[in-house]
Amino acid sequence: MFKDDCIFCKIGRGDIKTTPIYEDDKFTVILDKGPASKGHCLIIPKSHFDNIYSMDEDYCEKCLPLAKKIANKLKKQLNCQGINLVQNNEKAAGQTVNHFHLHLIPRYENDDLHINWKINELSEDEEKNLLSLLKDVL
Ligand code: 5GP
Ligand code: ZN
Repeated sequence: MFKDDCIFCKIGRGDIKTTPIYEDDKFTVILDKGPASKGHCLIIPKSHFDNIYSMDEDYCEKCLPLAKKIANKLKKQLNCQGINLVQNNEKAAGQTVNHFHLHLIPRYENDDLHINWKINELSEDEEKNLLSLLKDVL
């Protein structure tokens, strides 16, 4: 599926010229144009899915093995000391481009990049409540 006004569809289809670091029939992997760190890249499906909720199973199945390949390539070529995988869904979660993409963000000791959250406490009541809502509902 292709969406006319979608920048990542255009990149995937080659309508906007971008040199991928990797490409196959389903995905293109490009350098992020606003990198959080050296080597920050994006795995982008060539078919349009707004986000993870609607992504076809075969794309889901192939995405993580591809992320593993790219992560190893980043590690080998850039000598990064770590990598964050980040994937934002919807505005509240920070999604700005509404076409699924997976960020690979190389990390370097003392890079002063913060992909963190405050650690809260899970109360027994809340845990019980959440388990009743979420357990065995797939
Ligand atoms: P999000 O916030 O949706 O998870 O991330 C969108 C990412 O896409 C941002 O990191 C942004 O820098 C990147 N981006 C947006 N437009 C373009 C583009 O035209 N080319 C490239 N290479 N990256 C883009
Ligand atoms: Zn798209």
